[in-house]
Amino acid sequence: MSTPRAAISATGLRKAYGEKLVLDGIDLTVPAGTIFALLGPNGAGKTTTVQILSTLIRADAGDIRIDGRDLARDPDAVRDAIGVTGQFSAVDNLLTGEENLRLMADLRHLDRTTGRRRTAELLDQFDLVEAARQPVVTYSGGMRRRLDLAMTLVGSPRVIFLDEPTTGLDPRSRRTMWQIIRDLVRAGVTIFLTTQYLEEADQLADRIALLDHGRLIAEGSPDELKRRIPGGHVQLRFTDPADLGRAARTFADGARDDDALTLRIPHDGSVRSLRALLGRLDDAAVEVEELSVHTPDLDDVFLTLTGQPQQERASVR
Ligand code: ADP
Repeated sequence: MSTPRAAISATGLRKAYGEKLVLDGIDLTVPAGTIFALLGPNGAGKTTTVQILSTLIRADAGDIRIDGRDLARDPDAVRDAIGVTGQFSAVDNLLTGEENLRLMADLRHLDRTTGRRRTAELLDQFDLVEAARQPVVTYSGGMRRRLDLAMTLVGSPRVIFLDEPTTGLDPRSRRTMWQIIRDLVRAGVTIFLTTQYLEEADQLADRIALLDHGRLIAEGSPDELKRRIPGGHVQLRFTDPADLGRAARTFADGARDDDALTLRIPHDGSVRSLRALLGRLDDAAVEVEELSVHTPDLDDVFLTLTGQPQQERASVR
């Protein structure tokens, strides 16, 4: 099988502001058509990474290729291939949603007919048709974010950088945004996401990298990251105390609850060890009423790897 094409690859990224080292040798690869989430506490260097990868600032060292183009040699080609939304929003509050999109179409050199067609399509796709003729100042947070992303899509980018796309949104708007992001990836776009919400990374990302003090301290799929830390377990529930007794003798490391008729067995969450566990239950002729697998969540991962909960650190902002 051939390895999927990398939409983003960076090696040895370094950046310092004066004496302060902000990125200390970052390597990352994002396969085309996937969602990559860069997570990290406030000040970790997430925004700096996005700014470098999206050509807004220059790294002190490192090689970067975006959509097959060398960023140092051909930044204009990279700019043509990418879209950036978030903290560097291009939305003009005094214009209407429609005017903002048309302005962007002009900036992207679309001809008048194509520009109007694209504007109409995007207003429809992002559920902004009714608000199209209202000035953006009157928009809710969720509408603004949708418009911001729609503006990025005027240029049909192959790679989109989303810097904290749902920070400050209510749960419903957040879910709408997640669905939009999933639809984009289904259409073949690659997403590089920064977020301070672990749940967001868990919901969306194919791969997650944890950034702390300018270094990547862990990388993997959400499940891989969760398996790396202790706390995962399988819970078995029985109807017959005799079954609980037999299971508890089989799994000496299990925690037994005679009232609830449950046994909690430490487990790494992998299919292989689950299969082994079921085999041992069978061998011991144990009847199990219910089995549930509990993997630690990303909060646990963050706590273990950085020594501090993500939320607490994020709220320092
Ligand atoms: P994050 O997005 O993870 O919160 P940033 O990339 O914004 O982190 O910042 C990383 C570190 O770099 C912070 O300590 C910040 O103060 C510092 N930093 C960012 N931009 C500048 C700048 N223009 N000049 C000096 N220091 C900066």
